[in-house]
Amino acid sequence: MLEKVLIANRGEIALRIQRACHELGIKTVAIHSQADATLKHVLMAEETVCIGPGPSADSYLNMPAIISAAEVTDSVAIHPGYGFLSENADFAERVASSGYTFIGPSPELIRIMGDKISAIQAMKSAGVPCVPGSNGPLPDNPDECLRIGREIGYPVIIKAAGGGGGRGMRVVHNETSLINSINLTKAEAGSVFGNDVVYMEKFLERPRHIEFQVIGDTHGNAVHLFDRDCSMQRRHQKVIEEAPAPGISEELRMQMGERCAAACRELGYTNAGTFEFLFQDGEFYFIEMNTRLQVEHPVTEMITGIDLVKEQLRVAAGEALSFKQEDITLRGHSFECRINAENAKTFMPSPGRITTWHPAGGPGVRVDSHLYSGYVVPPYYDSMIGKLIVWGENREAAIARMSNALNEMVVDGIDTNILLHREIFQHSAFKAGGTDIHYLEKRLGL
Ligand code: ADP
Repeated sequence: MLEKVLIANRGEIALRIQRACHELGIKTVAIHSQADATLKHVLMAEETVCIGPGPSADSYLNMPAIISAAEVTDSVAIHPGYGFLSENADFAERVASSGYTFIGPSPELIRIMGDKISAIQAMKSAGVPCVPGSNGPLPDNPDECLRIGREIGYPVIIKAAGGGGGRGMRVVHNETSLINSINLTKAEAGSVFGNDVVYMEKFLERPRHIEFQVIGDTHGNAVHLFDRDCSMQRRHQKVIEEAPAPGISEELRMQMGERCAAACRELGYTNAGTFEFLFQDGEFYFIEMNTRLQVEHPVTEMITGIDLVKEQLRVAAGEALSFKQEDITLRGHSFECRINAENAKTFMPSPGRITTWHPAGGPGVRVDSHLYSGYVVPPYYDSMIGKLIVWGENREAAIARMSNALNEMVVDGIDTNILLHREIFQHSAFKAGGTDIHYLEKRLGL
């Protein structure tokens, strides 16, 4: 097993990784910014290294500082968590060339999946269904672009190959605005992502977001751990996730999951990953692959009983997966609410001191959070301060459990979106299941 792991992240996910390491007898090193010396996992770590000032660019994104921290602490591996450097192929490469194990897939695969066009091409050749589109970069010739648009049929969406975080996309409803939109998206993509390559896809008008969890080892094995529905979004940011996706037949679930696992085996994909799809009118369309652990991984853990982070550590250490596809069974239903330090109505960020912290509890309730009474939420980072996760024997039971847990949870001192979650769990359309990705924004009147 890995002897000592450096956790290159902060907040709830750093604590989650630390817990998994400790359960496996692995020592941990907590790196942190100057603004994060009082994070729970830092206070509990056997070793800590301050890697720079508060702003992420100077700390959690500072590759030389992180690699030096691994060096001075004799760490053998680095877990990147999610966000920050987790999908940065250059970082994965530097970690490996400095002699450490990167807990994730190979830099080559991170690079392929980081470019949306090469990701789509890899998926197509592995037999994964994609959105009808230009199948590559848009040409410079406007007549060619108009022809591609006609072939796909309007509305279409222009997307930056190097885009991410819901940016670098533009919907086009008819031919008159196509060329202008392509040029605008190209210019934007060039300045924001440093890569002005764009492509075109059919724009799906009322899709759901459904994704499949996979994990592969270095012995050629790869399995899927079913699906998650993450359609409850605001500004392309997930707010509530659930597993399994409601209304998907057992047969379709297993068929899609197996296609994803087969694609991993074909590509030689190792460690945890997620295939994201849009789902509309009974069809799945691949949009991107995330080459890391996801925020919403706990809902998968709740329905499978598998600890994904421990499995990540095992396969990074070179062990074979500890289970086969037929050993993985789906039991019950799980929801996750992302708890953010923000106003439930205006969505304004709300950093500051937590005066009271009462997490929810009871059977089937899990709270992944680094909060404690007296902790000060710094202003520099993502507003997510924790995740409330529940399991129930079926979807209805899980809804009742989540409603109860949300009523029980108290976070005083700052604003949170708990009130918004309580409200959503009363919506009849949400309770019925299967709402599309626009549902929440429409309900909020946005
Ligand atoms: P990012 O990497 O920026 O998150 P994605 O490709 O995952 O970009 O797309 C983000 C979101 O944009 C999707 O969840 C969906 O809401 C919307 N989107 C992307 N492609 C399409 C499409 N072809 N049709 C409809 N919506 C789309």
